[in-house]
Amino acid sequence: MARLGFLVTLFLAMISCQQEQQESNKKEPVKETTEIAEQKEPTEPKETEKWEPKPPKVSVDSQTKVPSDAIVLFDGSNFDEWVSAEDASPVKWDLNEDGSMTVKDKTGDIQTKRNFGSVQLHIEWRSKTESTGKGQNKSNSGVFLQNRYEVQVLDNNDNDTYVNGQVGSIYKQSIPLAMASSPTGEWNSYDIIFHEPEFDEQGHKTKSGTITVLHNGVLIQDHVTIEGTTEYIGWPKNKPHGKAPIKLQDHKDQSGVSYRNIWVREL
Ligand code: MG
Repeated sequence: MARLGFLVTLFLAMISCQQEQQESNKKEPVKETTEIAEQKEPTEPKETEKWEPKPPKVSVDSQTKVPSDAIVLFDGSNFDEWVSAEDASPVKWDLNEDGSMTVKDKTGDIQTKRNFGSVQLHIEWRSKTESTGKGQNKSNSGVFLQNRYEVQVLDNNDNDTYVNGQVGSIYKQSIPLAMASSPTGEWNSYDIIFHEPEFDEQGHKTKSGTITVLHNGVLIQDHVTIEGTTEYIGWPKNKPHGKAPIKLQDHKDQSGVSYRNIWVREL
């Protein structure tokens, strides 16, 4: 009799456990906004039309493809918007006749004179035609948002490396969704949408930054949450900061990476 009682208890416990499991698997339905929930269903099309605020007009130059509200950071003619990152001295990289610039080995990173918050950034890059080296030492450079968050630039053609450090990765944080590189020596584009992190007055992060990247038009980072600084060694750090420059990396390994057509829209 006692045994039967035990079995019944066990059976009931299993049923209850299964029910709990089913409950926890249930997803909460998305709640409608109060505004929508409290109004009665419209019967006329105009009831759901909005006429303001009107989005500002932005036109795109038919030749350069630069939007009319963008800040041009590099059009091939000069380094006016840039300085050496180390000491704010004039840029020592090469300015080329074809409207591009090339990393001059061991002259250091360069960064914008202006500071930026959240941005849409367009930048084009190409690896060295005769790209030698292996792994992280094959045309390595990088685009750093707010001087801290690196979108990796690397020649990954026939060149494997750790995937969270490959071309298009958020360095050591987010593996790209695809490897969309042009062949070695050909131009690539990055279109980056970056939302800066936010910090309170005590220096605590109150909102993480996010990055979206299109590589040659292919989505490779989809609104990825930034965990903190993109460190070579160690975990991401989250020291509070405000607006900061955009930086391009001299990896100091004869990377020979070139850049062109750089513009930014502040968000
Ligand atoms: Mg790099």
